[in-house]
Amino acid sequence: MYITASTLYDYIQCPHKVWRDKYGPKDEKIEETNPFVELLWNKGVQHEEKVIRKLGDFLDLSDGTLEERFEKTLAAMKSGMNLIYQGVIKADNLLGIPDLLRKVSEGNYIPVDIKSGMATEGGDDFEEEGKLKKHYAVQLCLYFEILNRLGFSQQKIGKVIDVHENEVLYEFDIPMGKRTPQSYWEFYEEIKQKSSLLIQNKDKNKPAMAGACKLCPWYNSCKKWCENTQDLTKVFYLGRSVRDKINDDLGIDKVEELLDLDVEEIIQKKKEDKSFMKGLGEKSLLKTIRRAEILVKTKKPVVYEPIVFPKVSHELFFDIEDDPTQEFVYLHGVYERTAVGERFLDFTATEISDEAEEDAWQRFWDYIRSLPQDDFSVYYYSAHEKTTYRRMQKKYPNVVSEQELEVFFANQNVIDLYTDVVLKNTDWPVGSYSLKALAVYLGFNWRDESPSGALSIQWFNNYIDTKDPKILERILLYNEDDCKATMVLKDGIEKIQKNER
Ligand code: SF4
Repeated sequence: MYITASTLYDYIQCPHKVWRDKYGPKDEKIEETNPFVELLWNKGVQHEEKVIRKLGDFLDLSDGTLEERFEKTLAAMKSGMNLIYQGVIKADNLLGIPDLLRKVSEGNYIPVDIKSGMATEGGDDFEEEGKLKKHYAVQLCLYFEILNRLGFSQQKIGKVIDVHENEVLYEFDIPMGKRTPQSYWEFYEEIKQKSSLLIQNKDKNKPAMAGACKLCPWYNSCKKWCENTQDLTKVFYLGRSVRDKINDDLGIDKVEELLDLDVEEIIQKKKEDKSFMKGLGEKSLLKTIRRAEILVKTKKPVVYEPIVFPKVSHELFFDIEDDPTQEFVYLHGVYERTAVGERFLDFTATEISDEAEEDAWQRFWDYIRSLPQDDFSVYYYSAHEKTTYRRMQKKYPNVVSEQELEVFFANQNVIDLYTDVVLKNTDWPVGSYSLKALAVYLGFNWRDESPSGALSIQWFNNYIDTKDPKILERILLYNEDDCKATMVLKDGIEKIQKNER
């Protein structure tokens, strides 16, 4: 059984998937490809074709059996071919199909992968921003190792051609981060070893409810397992590694069992043995127990400290829709509530161009500036809106200045309901604190039969291709319901407090 680039990618997304793909109950696997995953796949193919068209001369080895392609790849490298596309390389139990093999000197090749994402980390996590991507790095490491074993590479480097067609150098021996001294190469060695044990069934790990699950074909199967076993990852924020730590160190694997824990005793033991429950402090443990209790015992939401929301004439519930595969914001939606009534406003880009994106954003800001100053509040759900707007500000400085943007988000009436309220000050009897999970808990229903941000991106791409107004209508309806759900949640938090009094 080969270890491939997909094996390593899967391991990073979810270590359990490597095992489940080989040994999981096949009849429980969802056969249809998730439309969003399909969209990503198609975009990847289109981007690759675009890059390839500009490459000049290369040897195309994308056709044939793996064995035929391997033989041809070897022959091509031996004869000194400058550029090989979709060659197959293998050595022992490692197999790779790098997008490109590029000759750097006589007998020496480096692997180059074409990716339809950015070459480095970005997005909502400032800590991570600018770092090489682990999941790209391990794939290139695999290719390098095979090339090295075949005698065609000595330098531990590879390259990524990213979505903007920038070529970014990946050095494998550098540390993964300021606080992570482990190098990409060491990380690769570690996960290769772990994956190898899993695919041989010499090791087995458990499913866990996590963010990556939603797009995974095993979602229903693993969810069922977590339900049936009352797995600890049913508790909000209790991820795989903490679950494994509690399983191993405390011998506990059911949610109910968390309620009987003696925290004082655990903390005492932690003082005596530094490796015991490492990384899980008293505060986190107490929080976990509290959440478990709410989930399986009291079954009621709790607001800890009193929350007073601004009393203003205009309340706005706001949500953006963007396509991260092309860093394009296509919709800024606002559900507005005033004494006069409620209405939904959308500021939408109906074509993919900088002009259309800038225009939609300009209209959004014109609307914001038209509001009675100091007499409006804005609610949104997650740091994503702020991060995206900072990125847009750099791209379109004429729409809003950096200062105006920062003043907007620093306004105490502009509230990230998730980060500032839900996460800090509430707990809920559900395993996820996503907007959908909480609004549904409060009785809200989306009008769309399969509401999802990922699907909205797919709908938008379909709309761009077809210009079918029904698709646009569906996108707007979904966004309006997201905005309304934010309102339902804000109102729900107020009601919970009233009921607690
Ligand atoms: S559903 Fe989740 S736990 Fe199960 S294999 Fe997929 S990502 Fe892993």
